[in-house]
Amino acid sequence: MSLTSTVVIVGAGQAGSELAAELRTLGHTGRVVMIGDEPSLPYKRPPLSKGFLTGAVSTEQLLVRNAAAYERNSIEFIGGTRVTAIDRKAKSVALSDGRTLAYDKLALTTGGQARRLSIPGADLGNVLTLRSIADAAQLQAQLVEGRRLVIVGGGYVGLEAAAVAVKKGAKVTVLEGAPRVLARVTAPEISEFYTRVHREEGVDIRVDVQIDAFDGADGVVTAVRLADGSRIDADCVLVGIGLVPGTELAEAAGLACSNGIVVDEFGQTADPDIFAAGDCANRPSALHGCRVRLESVPNAMEQAKHAARAMVGQPKAYDELPWFWSDQYELKLQMAGLSTGYDQLVIRGSTATRSFAAFYLKEGRIIAADAISQLKEFGVMKKLVAGRAQIAPDRLRDDSLALKDLAAEAGV
Ligand SMILES: Cc1cc2nc3c(=O)[nH]c(=O)nc-3n(C[C@H](O)[C@H](O)[C@H](O)COP(=O)(O)OP(=O)(O)OC[C@H]3O[C@@H](n4cnc5c(N)ncnc54)[C@H](O)[C@@H]3O)c2cc1C
Repeated sequence: MSLTSTVVIVGAGQAGSELAAELRTLGHTGRVVMIGDEPSLPYKRPPLSKGFLTGAVSTEQLLVRNAAAYERNSIEFIGGTRVTAIDRKAKSVALSDGRTLAYDKLALTTGGQARRLSIPGADLGNVLTLRSIADAAQLQAQLVEGRRLVIVGGGYVGLEAAAVAVKKGAKVTVLEGAPRVLARVTAPEISEFYTRVHREEGVDIRVDVQIDAFDGADGVVTAVRLADGSRIDADCVLVGIGLVPGTELAEAAGLACSNGIVVDEFGQTADPDIFAAGDCANRPSALHGCRVRLESVPNAMEQAKHAARAMVGQPKAYDELPWFWSDQYELKLQMAGLSTGYDQLVIRGSTATRSFAAFYLKEGRIIAADAISQLKEFGVMKKLVAGRAQIAPDRLRDDSLALKDLAAEAGV
């Protein structure tokens, strides 16, 4: 692509904003147009279940970049407008306002939508999801003393919202279908730890629960009906059961999609002029020996930067170590790597305290790690995971031995 050609970015979120800025950093001088169906400039979603929900973070503070930064970089932003179709032959996109826009290169950074339940009552008022500023504002209005909030899903978003809600005086029940919370992403020991913490804070966590329906009166939810016949009264329900990746446009344009838009290590689809990055993209990972679709800010930012590089003809394969964080109460959980397939867990420190680490080992090598309020150690932990370090479990467990010394011994 010549540095003067037109790049159209579909989806004005974390990845879209990063991709646009990176194009300018790389010296691209052509048109960069970013189209988003939300009215706002790209914003950070993590605070929606944390600081924004508590009220500590304002709408302005959510912005990834302020309006002046886009103007300075001549990045055009079309907000409140949906891209409805891609014409790959004509190399153009159709917008919901009737306009057509030509591109030389197209980036799909469409994120995804909060998954909904398809059970009776799912459309009742006060049955909410949490993905956008508008969603968070709706939920926030419900978080008052004595209000009964039922959260469906014991993943990060559900547990973070539970922590904020209970601190605001709401009566919070978390319903999880699996036998434990955070089952998809952590070891049973970490799930147990978080269950205990939430219960100590006053959250009613129930696992192995199947939901049949939501009951309502005057169009608003009043209770959650469970498969065992019991009912839980509710003034508000938050459904936090994951994300459906935004692949509709790509699929309709004939691009391969399989749990996300299929891209290579450079973020490129099978169409050399179309790229994808962020929550919507499914990429290969040599590090993990499989394809992955990650939902995290570091992934959205890094993948977008790599896609920008490939667009301007400076491709660099993307295979960064995945990492993620979650804030619940005063606890900061930081996770590095993917623990799928681990055969041994080593806890460093004690889960009876509120600060410890967990290492996931496979055939003696560290493939992932969780740091619970161990901010100083997390940098070394990332290196241990990236280097697939081999450290004897007894030494790794012993927190009287400095982690950085163990890392040096292991040669990472
Ligand atoms: C409540 C919450 C808490 C989170 N907490 C954390 C955390 O602690 N740490 C962490 O790392 N990650 C966290 N995440 C995940 C993180 O926010 C996402 O991984 C990140 O936002 C992904 O960026 P993205 O650009 O791929 O998608 P998004 O930020 O979702 O942006 C995609 C944008 O594209 C728009 N769009 C889609 N289709 C079209 C179309 N056809 N036309 C126009 N626009 C379109 C969407 O409306 C959206 O605005 C959290 C997410 C949520 C919802």
